[in-house]
Amino acid sequence: MSVRDVGSICRFGGDEFVSVVLYADAAMYQAKNFGKRRWVQYTAGMEEDMLRKSIISQHLYHAKDKNELSVYYQPIWDFTDNPEGCIVSFEALLRWHNSTLGWVSPEEAVRVAEEIGIINDIGYWVARQALTDLVVLRQQVEPLATMAVNISAIQLHEPKLVILLLRLLNEKNLKPSYLVIELTESALIDGIDKGNNTVRDLCDLGINISIDDFGTGCSSLAYLHYIPANTIKIDQSFVAHIEHNGKTVQHIRQLIESYNMRALIEGVETDDQQNALLELGIHLQQGYLLGRPKPLGFYLAGMAANKKS
Ligand code: C2E
Ligand code: CA
Ligand code: CA
Repeated sequence: MSVRDVGSICRFGGDEFVSVVLYADAAMYQAKNFGKRRWVQYTAGMEEDMLRKSIISQHLYHAKDKNELSVYYQPIWDFTDNPEGCIVSFEALLRWHNSTLGWVSPEEAVRVAEEIGIINDIGYWVARQALTDLVVLRQQVEPLATMAVNISAIQLHEPKLVILLLRLLNEKNLKPSYLVIELTESALIDGIDKGNNTVRDLCDLGINISIDDFGTGCSSLAYLHYIPANTIKIDQSFVAHIEHNGKTVQHIRQLIESYNMRALIEGVETDDQQNALLELGIHLQQGYLLGRPKPLGFYLAGMAANKKS
């Protein structure tokens, strides 16, 4: 394509040639991210995104070795048999603090890690840390707790995922049923569509599967009957306006239970929301009201304080 062609496609009147090349580059990288044989038209801000991504990537490559990564744990409560509730699980959530970038959100870190091809490495590190800490949590905080680890769609295509997780569980002397793998609807469907058996293999080993952010994807409900999940996490967006969403949430719960799975809701922030959800029959709950994500030390300090009093 000639410079004149580029000029006629771009609508940035008066731009320097260098800028046009930079914009074209940004659009090209975006297109490459979407896969082969794509084209993408430049939109404002694309080059800044590219620059940030490039800076994040440079730091993320070394984050693990520089001990910048950590895992926080958010409790998941069950109110089925006890109005006081009890913690049945912890969700492991990645945290990354870098001296130049400050705290980087896990969403951004995971997205970049996927793009630069190091998500398997980071994901494995999170799983290892989470299971190491589960041993301590079970011994000192909640003897029956399980650990939920988020796995991205790309990790499902790692041929060694199942064997690596199994090895980790063996190493820590933990039963497969103590591990919950959280997958989004889209990751699961992408896996199923590509004939990937990983989820089925994990399930056959006794590892629990939980479907994350349920109700947000544009996926079809038609797959519900053959997904081997134990729990479905209804997305937190339903909680924010539970006064309007009550009927929908109740129907979603009934649908989930009709497939012998359990409904869990995340994003519970107020007493009113919690009570409304309990009335709708949702007994598995997670959210800031019930506990924010915290490092392991937080739970151990709580135990120490309880022992002293
Ligand atoms: P997610 O898996 O849906 O995790 C729930 C997110 O909601 C967490 O954000 C959690 O801190 C937040 N949250 C929990 N309760 C509440 C609440 O009551 N109100 C509100 N507003 N938010 C609440 P976080 O830790 O920032 O993680 C964001 C996302 O990053 C996660 O969403 C997950 O998709 C991804 N992520 C985090 N850690 C990992 C990881 O180790 N691997 C992968 N693949 N993804 C991860
Ligand atoms: Ca999750
Ligand atoms: Ca979620």
